[in-house]
Amino acid sequence: MATQQDAVTRANFDEVILPIYAPAEFIPVKGKGSRVWDQQGKEYVDFAGGIAVTALGHCHPALVETLKTQGETLWHISNVFTNEPALRLARKLIDATFAERVVFMNSGTEANETAFKLARFYASTRHSPYKTKIIAFHNSFHGRSLFTVTVGGQPKYSDGFGPKPADIIHVPFNDLHAVKAVMDDHTCAVVVEPIQGEGGVTAATPEFLQGLRELCDQHNALLVFDEVQCGMGRSGDLFAYMHYGVTPDILTSAKALGGGFPISAMLTTNEIASVFHAGSHGSTYGGNPLACAVAGTAFDIINTPEVLNGVNARRQLFVKHLQQIGEKYQLFSEIRGMGLLVGAELAAPLKGRARDFLYAAADAGVMVLNAGPDVMRFAPSLVIDEQDIDEGMRRFASAVEKVVNG
Ligand SMILES: *Cc1c(COP(=O)(O)O)cnc(C)c1O
Repeated sequence: MATQQDAVTRANFDEVILPIYAPAEFIPVKGKGSRVWDQQGKEYVDFAGGIAVTALGHCHPALVETLKTQGETLWHISNVFTNEPALRLARKLIDATFAERVVFMNSGTEANETAFKLARFYASTRHSPYKTKIIAFHNSFHGRSLFTVTVGGQPKYSDGFGPKPADIIHVPFNDLHAVKAVMDDHTCAVVVEPIQGEGGVTAATPEFLQGLRELCDQHNALLVFDEVQCGMGRSGDLFAYMHYGVTPDILTSAKALGGGFPISAMLTTNEIASVFHAGSHGSTYGGNPLACAVAGTAFDIINTPEVLNGVNARRQLFVKHLQQIGEKYQLFSEIRGMGLLVGAELAAPLKGRARDFLYAAADAGVMVLNAGPDVMRFAPSLVIDEQDIDEGMRRFASAVEKVVNG
């Protein structure tokens, strides 16, 4: 019988876990700030942040303190009751944003599922049962449930799972003319990531988001911003919509929201929320006190000038290093993104090799990400130290050297 102390190895993964991931050969066992250690005691600089999740680094003392305190107080109570941490966190999000109503879920997928269901329900309640069209974008990513993966703009992730939710249409990102061509009064929502994350770290242009806002207003459609990856400080503002000055009707947040503890939120207005009633939607774990308490502490730290202003200073350091490494090896054709969501597109001869660089980087002691086969992605802690950036980039440069020079 397996015990908590049994030795486990990477080989066990292939025996016991569904083969939906291809994890690295080493197993991380410990993290502190922007450093991580594996089973062998090898140390890594973390430029991945658990895919834009651990926004305050690993085991931030304030988050650990809240986790311990709440863990000894109340973990779960069900939505038959409400709880103090959820009410406090909702108040913080409302005070800091356009929103008047919040609901908590457990993952980005669930927050988006909630958003898309609400948009459809709002349209059918307030307008017409035939107002069901959702406009979304090529290369977008909105989660892995059948609805969210179908709204996502990569058919390879939704093919093969049987009939898909209908009346979802995809057009090119940052192409307002393409949206105009398909927009009509039958449209209930336009769904967009202000900065596409998985799709290649591409920021929307201000004109694009502004244009979407106007089109939605003209056609009584809701504008839904998926800020699961780009929100909670990553852009340098609390939410990316603030940077653009374009206010959505519905916004989703997850990843950094709990600083590593699973939680997500969907934010909206009183008017839109009012079409739902008790029983319209729900989640067993959504809004549990443990997750909301940790997220509340993460929110208090992230939503400060100190942390938010530090994001762009750190970005500059990342970009400076990437430009230097890029020039030396003719590595990148473009460095883009916003704040601490940094994308570096591989130049033509190296296209398709992002995973090679990712694995070589891990060998050299730095965790980085890719966003598709052609883009290196960096989504570190928002409070990563300058020394960690310098050291991680030194290791990344040595990995690049190995890949490029064979
Ligand atoms: C990661 C991500 C999701 C999905 O979140 P999960 O927590 O994995 O369900 C949705 N939208 C965007 C933009 C994301 O980056």
